[in-house]
Amino acid sequence: MKYKRIISIFLCICLQIMISACTYANNTDEVKVTIDGEYVEFDQPPVIIEGRTMVPLRKIFEKLGAKVEYDPETSTVYASKTDFEMSMKIGENKYTVNNTEYSLDVPSQIINDRTLVPVRAVSESMDCIVDWDGAARTVIILTQQALEQQALKVHFIDVGQADSALLICNDKTMLIDGGNVEDSSRVVSYLAKHNIDYLDYVVCTHAHEDHVGGLSGPLSVMDVGTIYAPLTEEDTRAYLNFKNKAEENGVEIVHPDCKEVFYLGDGKVEILGPVSEETNNLNNTSIVLKITYGETSFLFTGDAEYEEEQDIINMGYDLSADVLKVGHHGAENSSSYTFLREVMPEYAVISVGKDNKYSHPSENTLSRLRDVGAKVYRTDLQGDITFLSDGENITAVTQKNSEVQTNPTENTEKKTVQYIGNKNTKKYHRLDCSSLPKEENQIGFSSKEEAENQGYEPCSKCKP
Ligand SMILES: [Zn+2]
Ligand SMILES: [Zn+2]
Repeated sequence: MKYKRIISIFLCICLQIMISACTYANNTDEVKVTIDGEYVEFDQPPVIIEGRTMVPLRKIFEKLGAKVEYDPETSTVYASKTDFEMSMKIGENKYTVNNTEYSLDVPSQIINDRTLVPVRAVSESMDCIVDWDGAARTVIILTQQALEQQALKVHFIDVGQADSALLICNDKTMLIDGGNVEDSSRVVSYLAKHNIDYLDYVVCTHAHEDHVGGLSGPLSVMDVGTIYAPLTEEDTRAYLNFKNKAEENGVEIVHPDCKEVFYLGDGKVEILGPVSEETNNLNNTSIVLKITYGETSFLFTGDAEYEEEQDIINMGYDLSADVLKVGHHGAENSSSYTFLREVMPEYAVISVGKDNKYSHPSENTLSRLRDVGAKVYRTDLQGDITFLSDGENITAVTQKNSEVQTNPTENTEKKTVQYIGNKNTKKYHRLDCSSLPKEENQIGFSSKEEAENQGYEPCSKCKP
């Protein structure tokens, strides 16, 4: 999933950084830039000034396909490409693109005879998507051209303390949940913003209002192909409204069987749950599905709790996924160690409202996500979150705060939980021990040493 590292370029950048490190005290950590997955080699390495990554102007524009000219008399740089004309006076806090003026919080400036400009502003002016990978200290730029090749786009729409995800694969669309009733119009306008006037699939994961409530909006304004919902006796107003809208749309609600497979464009969608219909907990009726596109995969779990997670594990599916929509807004009773060990997500998305009354996400869930090394994204902190997949690489783009601390003391090293400790008795067990503690009292260890260093003793039954 990581961008391929080109060692020669890396060494080259290192060398240059060593040379210029004395000149720029704030540039001791190298910063890299990729455009569409390829590292860009600069003769003057990028520097960070007032939190902005500055890169040589000529190089970045040329890499983005623009022609660059410089007028020394007016100290103005001109860059042009089809439908794109920019002028920027060195040292000024503004620049012009196609006759519209934009401001720069850090002006372009000359360093070592090179004109440096803020890479984000420049790239965004050319309609690129820009993201910052803090761990790899890399600015990731995706051009429009590459974006068109990102055949799978998964949008986690910020609907507060609720769930809603829009999936677009090739030209097919699927909406999984629609948030609360009051989110209806937000979801409708989100779809409109992405030029969607037809939904191939609508999935109501389960009948709770924070999932089904907002589906009535899209169902009122556009045609849909197939509607999936679990079998339920629920007759709340939100659910009845959804049923009525489906009927008005002339579409019958399908209760999918687990193991059912269908295609969203080239994306393969597998229904994994619910496995059993016998439950009195609506959350455990959640439709759980996985979409695989190329080598990348996403797992959606609705509000499934431990019980349904266990049912799904028992089915023996391949649950591994790059991105996990964390179950039940990060609540304590979802995302058990056993489940997370099967999924081993690179990224975990928690759809949750700011200061919600349930205190979601739970610290224990966050800690379990840390243990499996998942990078956490949260709608309460970052707004809408979009993942783009070209079948090989995944890029995450957040509406805001891409670098906010989403999971304090986040691990960078992935840890494989081998033993489970009981926080109360301070005993640690093998994963298959018959007397594992309740999930809320569990703590994961990757080795016996780790458990023992923290004062845990081996269980006398399973003798780890
Ligand atoms: Zn629920
Ligand atoms: Zn929910």
